[in-house]
Formats: sequence, C-alpha cells, structure tokens
Amino acid sequence: MIQVESADQFLKQVSGSVAEGERIRLCIQCGSCSGVCPFGLWMEFPPQAIIASLRAGELKPLLDTDSIWLCVSCYACTNVCPAKIPLTPGLLSSVKAEKLMKSSVPTELQDALVNARKYGNTVGESPRKRADWTADFTVEVPILAKTKKPVDVLWYVGDYPSYHARVQQVTRATAKIFKALGVSFGILGPEEQSDGDVFHLAGERGLFELLASKNAKTFEKYEFKEIVTTDPHAYNTFKHEYPKLGYHFPVRHYAQFLHAHLNRLRSLMKNKLEARVAYHDPCGLGRANDNHIYQEPREIIEAIPGAELVEMGHNRTTSICCGGGGGGMWLDGFAWEKAGTRTSEWRILEAVAAGAQILAVACPYETPRFDDAVKSTNHAKDIVVKDIAELVADALQG
Ligand code: SF4
Ligand code: SF4
Repeated sequence: MIQVESADQFLKQVSGSVAEGERIRLCIQCGSCSGVCPFGLWMEFPPQAIIASLRAGELKPLLDTDSIWLCVSCYACTNVCPAKIPLTPGLLSSVKAEKLMKSSVPTELQDALVNARKYGNTVGESPRKRADWTADFTVEVPILAKTKKPVDVLWYVGDYPSYHARVQQVTRATAKIFKALGVSFGILGPEEQSDGDVFHLAGERGLFELLASKNAKTFEKYEFKEIVTTDPHAYNTFKHEYPKLGYHFPVRHYAQFLHAHLNRLRSLMKNKLEARVAYHDPCGLGRANDNHIYQEPREIIEAIPGAELVEMGHNRTTSICCGGGGGGMWLDGFAWEKAGTRTSEWRILEAVAAGAQILAVACPYETPRFDDAVKSTNHAKDIVVKDIAELVADALQG
C-alpha cells in the first residue's frame, strides 16, 4: 500500500484493493452504519461521514482526526449496510492503514504492534513461555514439536489464552474437555505466533502477512485433520483471510467443535449448575462471520444440567461488542478519554437486567473485560463471567 494524497486516490485504493471495495460507490448516505455504531456518537467521522467527506473530495480533515481509533471492528455497521459495503474490513481498516502510515496511532496500540513484530505475540512475553500454562497441570498437553505424531486436532491456543492468567483458566478447561472426549490433539507451544487478525483489522497489513506466513509454515510442518481455535478472531482470520494469501487450512472454533460432540458431552456432564445464563455473542462468531455461529453455543449451554438460558435485549446480530476487537484491547485508555464509556459495562448491565447470574462468553478477550466491568458496575454479587469451556468443564463428572 502507498500513502494516498487525495480523496479520489483513497477511493480508488479501497475500490481496487479490498474485496468488493468498489461497492463504496453504492452508498446511499442512509446513516444506518453511523447510527448502529457503539462509538458513533463520539466519532468525528463515523462510517457515513467518512464516505460523505471522501465524496466531497476532502481527505485531510478525515486523516487529521484520531477518532477512527474508536472503531473496535465490531462489524455492526457492515451488517446493517443496505448497499453491502465492506465497511469494517475495507473502508475502516483502510483509514486506519493511512493513519498508521502517518505514524498517528495511540501509544497502547503501537506497543502491541511492536510486541507482535518482536516476540510474535501481542502481550510482549517471551515465545519460550507460550506453553508455560501446561506446567504442573493435571492434563497432559502434547506439544507437536516434541511428540512428532499426527493428531486429529491442531489446537491453536492464541496469545491471551496462552499468557493471560485469567484466560489460562479457560485454556485449561478446554484441555480438560478434550481429554474427557478422548480427542487426539496437540499444540504448537513456542512455535505458535499471533494469528494477526487484530493487525489486519487495525490496518497493519504488512505485519498481518508476516505473521500469517510464519503460522502457515508452522502448520504445514505437522500432520493434522483440522485446526480448532480458542479465539473467534483466529478462527475468522484462518478461515477468511489466510486463504486470500494462499494458505488453506480446515478450521473450527471450539464452540463448533464441542457442539459436534454434544451427544457425547451430554452423557459426561453430570454436575448441576442451577443458574440462569445469558450468552454474549462475540462479533467474531456472528456478524464478522456471515452471522452463522449463534445457535451452537446456546445449545451447548442448554445441554449443561441445570442451566437456564436467558436472552439479553441485544443478541445475535445486534449483540453489543465487548470493545476488544480491531485493536480495542489496547485502546481502552484512548476510548475512555474520548468517549468516557465502556461497552463492556453496557453489556453487564444488560445481562443483569435479563436476570442472568452467569454471563457466558466464547472469546478470550471477554473474560477479563467483563470481569472488570462486573466490578466497575458494582455487580459482583449479582453476576459472574464464565467462558463456555469453563461451564462445560465444571459440569464434567470427576
Ligand atoms: S449504511 Fe451503507 S449505505 Fe448507509 S450510509 Fe452507511 S455505508 Fe452508506
Ligand atoms: S466496525 Fe463497529 S465500531 Fe467500527 S465503525 Fe463499524 S460499527 Fe463502529
């Protein structure tokens, strides 16, 4: 990508380099995109205004503001656009790419970019520590470079599930379920690199392509039937973005994998939960993914003995983003300064209003974000946050 100098050049670049980018010409300025955006109120240029500005030949005012960094790549705008314009992965990430080329990026996100280049993960940890969560763990977790044996499942664990103390609990729960199901699986450990989705959506396409090529080369070293991911972002990027670079691997998110084993899980889950559970649809399994993974997580929850599924007002296509996608995980300080609100708190209030005692999630960004929101909204006595994998693992007998 080259740095563009004019609105016309920018429009030509989006039209030429983004799949279906030429649809940008079909915008009818209805404003649905800006209206549905969780941060639209605080953006100087929400999606509709970006297109209006470009049509007026104005690029500089758009690039002079930093409000694009309020965009958390939730796909809500893309989902409602009647003209089917690829806003999130096209227009918005292209604006972010221009900002990156001008080095106009909030420091927190810049740090994540540097970490991923230097260490292969967004959290700035040593790659050698990537499988430390397996130490002193009751379940044996094979690392493919050591076992050198074919497996059915190459489990792509991801950055947060490997390194973040809270999310490691989810990772261990997933390993327990694999063991209970007798799944033949292995992980990459230190060989695993960040999947790159966040950088693709944040406009850092060079870094995304570098990480994708490293991961693809590693995947090709091993014999497996499919990749199963903990993270919806990894699932999406392996499924939709890696093939555009020539890397094709069969992949499922773990919710799909568990759902496919639901009959067997039903017979293994004997411990009762006795709680009302609301499920938070992650953007990465729904809107970002042709809206098709809504039912499987709900059916897993309903299969847990004693679990009563309740719905929040915003669910499925209208689910409210936790605020962590598209680089949002590293932009909390920026977003708070600009908007003074957190979507994760909206979601906790909505779950409590729905009568839920548990907010079930299926994305590694969500447990820490919603845990914080439970505390900051003073609802620690009313609700807890659990990943679906934790709920299933807790229900397993023994
Ligand atoms: S929703 Fe689509 S058509 Fe409507 S203003 Fe936004 S980009 Fe244009
Ligand atoms: S992707 Fe989400 S946060 Fe970004 S502009 Fe669209 S609606 Fe707003």
